[in-house]
Amino acid sequence: ESERLRLPPWLKTKIPVGENYARLKDQLRKLNLSTVCEEARCPNIGECWGGGEHKTATATIMLLGDTCTRGCRFCSVKTSRAPPAPDPNEPVHTATAIASWGLDYVVLTSVDRDDLPDGGSNHFAKTVKEIKRQNDNILVECLVPDFRGDLTAVKTIVESGLDVYAHNIETVEALTPFVRDRRAKYRQSLATLEGAKSVNSDLITKSSIMLGLGETDEEIQQTLADLRTAGVHCVTLGQYMQPTKRHLKVVEYVTPSKFKHWEEIGNSMGFLYVASGPLVRSSYKAGEFFIASILK
Ligand code: SF4
Ligand code: SF4
Repeated sequence: ESERLRLPPWLKTKIPVGENYARLKDQLRKLNLSTVCEEARCPNIGECWGGGEHKTATATIMLLGDTCTRGCRFCSVKTSRAPPAPDPNEPVHTATAIASWGLDYVVLTSVDRDDLPDGGSNHFAKTVKEIKRQNDNILVECLVPDFRGDLTAVKTIVESGLDVYAHNIETVEALTPFVRDRRAKYRQSLATLEGAKSVNSDLITKSSIMLGLGETDEEIQQTLADLRTAGVHCVTLGQYMQPTKRHLKVVEYVTPSKFKHWEEIGNSMGFLYVASGPLVRSSYKAGEFFIASILK
């Protein structure tokens, strides 16, 4: 086996927790709701659940099961060509739990369900509508698949009443075939983001890029430019971390100052907000950033 890079000091963090974190965690125990934040042992949980200056706590919930029809080389989610059928009660059950939890901003996400004719888009839309019906104050972001480029599915999501439409481009164009499942295409991802804007031009759209997979600065710059061209408003950049030995190796640990550089570049390109840092994940403090950007 070839040599693995050593973990740099900025990735060995302790997890900050606060008062609001403790409150949400306590409430969650009674709700029978599982979060990606806890299951993935995300290091940002204290910050996301704690909220910040704008007191806007964020958490991420996974819909449509834990088994994906795709197999991206950076992702450790289970894969199957025929995952179990979705639970038809999930939209209402999940929405009820979310609506009664003291959360301000929820990110709904899912595995890719290429086995379902609508890619699971109606399941997402039902969940959003039900959350909003029960508690209109909760901001909802949907972090969705590319739906194989199906713009009907994109439209279903956009018209659900969500606040932010997110789809991750993940990496630069040249690396896409090596990093993402072969059914995922760079241009197709851009087209769905553009398609979401064409359904509702007021909609806020968002995407995310992992760094450290061997991409060049020029390629990162180009990806940011492509996202802007597709009308994307918000972007996050974070370090790729190898989930297991079978997954793609980290080529580079990008320094915090380089992440800062990308934040400045992104801001100068007119993104509404840019979250960029080694531990940043696509949903990192999404509520805080969202509120800060609309108050700008
Ligand atoms: Fe949860 Fe995402 Fe924040 Fe991690 S970054 S704690 S998964 S909301
Ligand atoms: Fe993981 Fe998403 Fe790729 Fe499925 S489509 S393998 S969940 S990154």
